[in-house]
Amino acid sequence: MEKKYQSLNQIQDALRSGQTNCKEVVSHYLEQIELHNEELNAFLEVYATEAMLMADALDQKLEAGQKMGRLFGMTIGIKDVICYKGHKVTAASRILENFESIYNATCVDRLLQEDAIILGRLNCDEFAMGSSSENSAFGPIRNADDPSKVPGGSSGGSAVAVQADMCLAALGSDTGGSVRQPASFCNVVGLKPSYGRISRHGLIAYASSFDIIGTLSNTIEDARILLDVMAGPDDFDSTTIQNKWNNTAKQVEAPKIAYFPAVMNHQGLDPEIKEKVEEFLGRQESKGAIVEPVDFPYLDYLVPTYYILTTAEASSNLARYDGAHYGHRSSQASSIEEMYRLSRTEAIGEEVRRRIMLGTFVLSAGHYDAYFTKAQKVRRLIADKTLEILSQYDFIVTPTTPTTAFPIDAGEYRDPISMYLADIYTVQANLAGVPAISLPLFQHSNGMPFGIQLLSGKFDEQKLLTYGQELMLD
Ligand code: GLN
Repeated sequence: MEKKYQSLNQIQDALRSGQTNCKEVVSHYLEQIELHNEELNAFLEVYATEAMLMADALDQKLEAGQKMGRLFGMTIGIKDVICYKGHKVTAASRILENFESIYNATCVDRLLQEDAIILGRLNCDEFAMGSSSENSAFGPIRNADDPSKVPGGSSGGSAVAVQADMCLAALGSDTGGSVRQPASFCNVVGLKPSYGRISRHGLIAYASSFDIIGTLSNTIEDARILLDVMAGPDDFDSTTIQNKWNNTAKQVEAPKIAYFPAVMNHQGLDPEIKEKVEEFLGRQESKGAIVEPVDFPYLDYLVPTYYILTTAEASSNLARYDGAHYGHRSSQASSIEEMYRLSRTEAIGEEVRRRIMLGTFVLSAGHYDAYFTKAQKVRRLIADKTLEILSQYDFIVTPTTPTTAFPIDAGEYRDPISMYLADIYTVQANLAGVPAISLPLFQHSNGMPFGIQLLSGKFDEQKLLTYGQELMLD
């Protein structure tokens, strides 16, 4: 799809030279939303009037010669799991329908301080649980390249909003691939920073030791500036890392790249994706990179470990949606216990219920050691091995996804286990807490795009972005 603007730089140049103004920029995106959103269902809510008012204020500020924020001209959509004061946030769930945020997420505060314009709230899988954006209580999201297909999930609305030029960039959240997998399916850049790089304050929790806010954008430079604005310590999130984010490009001469033969020979991997990724690796080698196969013995443990630990954390995190504190409360109940049960049963969708039950099971007294404790140990092994590889290599390269976008309501993917396997290449970065990016480099002969994924060492987003930039320009 032809996009009017590819990057923030381009918009800022046009604004500063007087070629356009903020109101025109916002109008362009609102028109695109008007054209596409009814079919694609990416935005759950559009803040049209508010965005135009903000644009007007920014135009006046520029005219008055005042110093503009670094995100001046940035129109951004935020996933419906991120709190924006005075605006609804529902996690695409009936249980939070009509719930309004009473404070800003730290990342939202930081975006606004730099003059970003928030255009609206983006649809996703309920509580960010899913790989297809079909689990939203407010209807499935469609892929703009082929509306009969899914956009991936759970940040499907964020990917589609950028894909269909309905905003310049979007925020998503990534617990096991929710930024990168939809980025791959929708032909955009998806960045998952290191765990702790961006505050989770104001992000509705799914699995707190995995969750991180990420970005979807057309370009690496936009991913970089958004990260730069949002990154850094926050008193409201004690897991944010204290070391300062250093925004200078980090060139890697002759990068050392590891790939896993077990990944490349996995039976679920589409043969054409395999071929293109192999070609890619060959090309990097011929340009001077050192490309080596590395044994990663835990491939089969990634998805089970991820699902045991994330469902356990989810069952605890989601206990707060009980009908008593906030959100939906059943009107049918005649006792307090029934009120809890009915409120949750009426307003929580099937997949989220499945995960709460799974999580409660693995944490229950009789099964805790067999599942939860064991999975914690396996996570440690996976993380240690991943970090060891990344201390010897600059990057691990994998396909982002084993397939391209699949049809909405696809028979084989209806079964939850096959859906879980869609995350086979993305969950490793979350289990280890390292940064990863999906770059939109390929087109499949079936007409759909797909991405390649790069992982780098903990807190080494710079290297990832610099090399990613090189690859995008190639
Ligand atoms: N698709 C994965 C899941 O269903 C990842 C979700 C996410 O990253 N939020 O859990």
